[in-house]
Amino acid sequence: MERPSGPSYFQTMTQTESHAAMRSASGYDLTPPTDSQRAALEADLSPEEKRVLLAHGTEAPFCGTLLGEKRAGVFCCRECGLPLFRSGTKFESGTGWPSFTEPVDPAHVRAVRDDSHGMVRVETRCARCDSHQGHVFPDGPPPTGLRYCINSVALSFVAEGESLPDPLGRGDGTA
Ligand SMILES: [Zn+2]
Repeated sequence: MERPSGPSYFQTMTQTESHAAMRSASGYDLTPPTDSQRAALEADLSPEEKRVLLAHGTEAPFCGTLLGEKRAGVFCCRECGLPLFRSGTKFESGTGWPSFTEPVDPAHVRAVRDDSHGMVRVETRCARCDSHQGHVFPDGPPPTGLRYCINSVALSFVAEGESLPDPLGRGDGTA
């Protein structure tokens, strides 16, 4: 796996950290959950989901339930329901994890520098609830050249036309 390198890559990928807009351009309320809302969201997670979303874990490759998901729809944050990726940007990366070229909205996925495990990587988090999602690498296909490598358990899939999970009651609508 090619490792990201160069200061420009990190500057570009971490710029979204300074964007504090509470509503994204695509119309979603990005206000973080309150403490009590967060407790309720976390209580709804399985032990494996907690390990990945809350403790920066990584699921085993080729085991995720969304790896082969090919239906049209939206992949939402498993914790708070925010739409993060669209089916049209999903591609076969061969890595064993669901891979995407770009988020639904750049404001929905926050990039954070990650120096763990002796590597320099860019971690991606849900911009609303701050849960860990995966990493983004600069070795993806066109049009972006990016590879968002995301854990299946960090996502919930919503087929086109179905209601989004919306556990925070923000009126998130349909996929
Ligand atoms: Zn979230």
